[in-house]
Amino acid sequence: MRIKRLEIYGFKSFPYRVSLPFPPGISAIVGPNGSGKSNIMDALRWVLGEQSLKRLRVRSAEDLLFAGDHGRSPGFAEVRLVLENDGGVPEEFRELPEIVVARRLYRSGESEYLINNRTCRLKDIHYLFLDTGVNPRGYGLIDQGEVGKFLERSPQERRFFLEELAGVSRYRANRDETARNLARTRENLARVEDILSEIR
Ligand code: ATP
Repeated sequence: MRIKRLEIYGFKSFPYRVSLPFPPGISAIVGPNGSGKSNIMDALRWVLGEQSLKRLRVRSAEDLLFAGDHGRSPGFAEVRLVLENDGGVPEEFRELPEIVVARRLYRSGESEYLINNRTCRLKDIHYLFLDTGVNPRGYGLIDQGEVGKFLERSPQERRFFLEELAGVSRYRANRDETARNLARTRENLARVEDILSEIR
């Protein structure tokens, strides 16, 4: 799943609709201090379902809405993430060439998520990205200063980081869950055998 475009409107420092294209290859966003580069990362995290205001670098949800004059005050904030569909998505989305995930926040405090212009639940967004490694908390999004932090980590911590990035930790979590289920099933089996031996 590749990001084709990020569209931002009324979110943080973006009073007008902007469309940021991400052509194949590497894209770099450059600009002077305070020009809104990190706000773009925040927009990406937000549309992917980030709930933590701290991670979005705001005190209240209202701070996510553009606050300023610029001759206008948008009634809502909207971020749309346009993705190229390479097929690694749940069955129901497989036929679509493009997937557009959107999140809106109105000044009234109401908010909504959309997939291809249809309102949906946050759960549906999570489901869409399941197994793709796209996740607002995942290591696919690396913040300023995190590269330095990575280099200062111990080899074990670095390994954990790389496994998370490579998606290995998901399999480890599955394996642990399966091991727990297996242990529970063994206990149940032992109980059944006890009961059977009593009956006999
Ligand atoms: P640096 O290079 O210093 O890290 P940056 O380009 O990443 O800077 P950001 O942190 O993305 O900059 O943007 C900060 C700017 O966004 C500030 O000027 C701030 O006033 C503005 N800003 C943040 N929230 C809002 C908002 N709700 N309404 C209007 N402007 C906002």
